[in-house]
Amino acid sequence: MTRRRHVAAAIYFATIWSIPAIAQTCRDADLLVRNGHIITMDQDKPIATAMAVRDGKILAVGETRELAACANQRTQSLDLQGRTVLPGLIDVHTHAMEWVKSILRGEIDTGYPAVRSIEEIQAAVGHRAAAAPPGQWIIGSGWDDAKLAEKRYITRRDLDAVSPDHPVYLKHVSGHLAAVNGVALRLANITRESVDPPGGVIERDAHGEPTGILKDTATNLITPLLPKDPPDIDLSAAKLISAKAAEVGLTTIHDIFLSPAEMRGYQDAHRNGWLKVRVQMSPRLASIADAETLAQMGVHTGFGDEMLKFGAAKMFADGGMGARTIAIYPPGVIGEPDNLGVLRWRPADMQKAHLVAAAAGWQLETHAIGDRAIDEVLDSYAAVIQRLGLKDHRFRIVHAGISTPAVQKRIRELNVVIDGNPPFLYWIGSWFSKYGPERVRWSYPARSYIQNGIIEAAGSDVPVTPLNPWWGIWAAVVRRELDSGQVLAPEERISVQQALALYTRNGAFAGFEENFKGSLKPGKLADFVVVDRDVLAVPADELCDVQVLQTFLGGDKVYDRASDAQSQ
Ligand SMILES: [Zn+2]
Repeated sequence: MTRRRHVAAAIYFATIWSIPAIAQTCRDADLLVRNGHIITMDQDKPIATAMAVRDGKILAVGETRELAACANQRTQSLDLQGRTVLPGLIDVHTHAMEWVKSILRGEIDTGYPAVRSIEEIQAAVGHRAAAAPPGQWIIGSGWDDAKLAEKRYITRRDLDAVSPDHPVYLKHVSGHLAAVNGVALRLANITRESVDPPGGVIERDAHGEPTGILKDTATNLITPLLPKDPPDIDLSAAKLISAKAAEVGLTTIHDIFLSPAEMRGYQDAHRNGWLKVRVQMSPRLASIADAETLAQMGVHTGFGDEMLKFGAAKMFADGGMGARTIAIYPPGVIGEPDNLGVLRWRPADMQKAHLVAAAAGWQLETHAIGDRAIDEVLDSYAAVIQRLGLKDHRFRIVHAGISTPAVQKRIRELNVVIDGNPPFLYWIGSWFSKYGPERVRWSYPARSYIQNGIIEAAGSDVPVTPLNPWWGIWAAVVRRELDSGQVLAPEERISVQQALALYTRNGAFAGFEENFKGSLKPGKLADFVVVDRDVLAVPADELCDVQVLQTFLGGDKVYDRASDAQSQ
């Protein structure tokens, strides 16, 4: 061989070997995304400019020049012109079905910012009552006393004044209480003699008369009396959820505490090809009988497919901050020193229900906001983990609102995952103050979780806060409360990158899906969003204004802001 041929051969082989493995395996892409600013959330390659997709999965992530080889004549090309791409966002805690059904039912929107005072709510209820046949229920949802000018609960008197003949039922934004009027109390036989149901409170005035406020399980005295939904409402709801999720960049949601009808709604929507968001369905675990039913079905967490599957079984341990029913250690709520909240379960029963469900293969997730409730749940989890010898259980505490250092230490030791709610800080942060500054310090402590090696995923808890995950990402970074503008526990602020992790990688982990979701990496599902600004570079206060331009699910475009704008 001549020297020149040696050189040529060396160049040839050098070229072959320098072509990254990408080009050799990356062929016949269905979609090639080019010239982007792709934030992958993958530590091995955090930023890229191009991504190739085939059969709904990511084939390669790299640079525009090197991925050109992935395309053939039929490959669709998407030139991003420098725009920012992120993995599809994951919300691990929604009540999406419940929320969109309130829209489909035409309930009065009594939430902020639609309504800002009790006076306005009275006007809306009065208006509806005037047009409705006598006896017809007037139903509304979303009110929040902290955001009403009067800063108090709505009472039966407020409602009787505008609706003396129609029963009224107004759900609080927290989902933990409702205001009803005199007609509704009469229909439900709630009088001064009525006893509080277990896990609930019939609020009374100084004379012992019901005020019209029903807390937690006391709302079950009313719900059976409400009009029945049309039979296809759950199917319509599943379809509507798809549209709402795609619009804000969510490609996976966990829908929590679902009824059998709601799960059928999702299943039918999936069969019809209407689902445009991946859903983990979390069935109710409200009794030991529920646990036994789940066990008898012979399916468990993870059953389903990439679009629709069973998630964790959901239980409530305590109430809500808005209803002042979270279970705390002394001292009590400010102004109500004896109020240490409500525990919904006897510890032995909780453990039995947890054990039966977990033994049948169900991941557990339990709502616990107060530190006393969290401790009770951790006691139960510890017993179940030990009894069943579980290694990778990923049991979850939902909210963990008041997460003191003592509580965090136990969470870490038990490898429990947190379903946190950054948007609560902004939207309902004013509720926290009723629990005193020490508890505000440990409310939703995202930075401590990271420092302590605790994995936190994030959820909107819609309808408690809006579905839009950008409110949550922003709130996790700035922690500013809506009402006062005060920054709550500034030491718990986290970076944008860390906030994005809550809604991507950590959300995937919470759902046992880290091998195919949560970052943009070869082999994972091609779920991604194109947004209107570089979220890593903009001022923190702009994060809540981020607009999603396009959402892709498995490589298919399921939302396009441009065509959305045209159709409106
Ligand atoms: Zn919830």
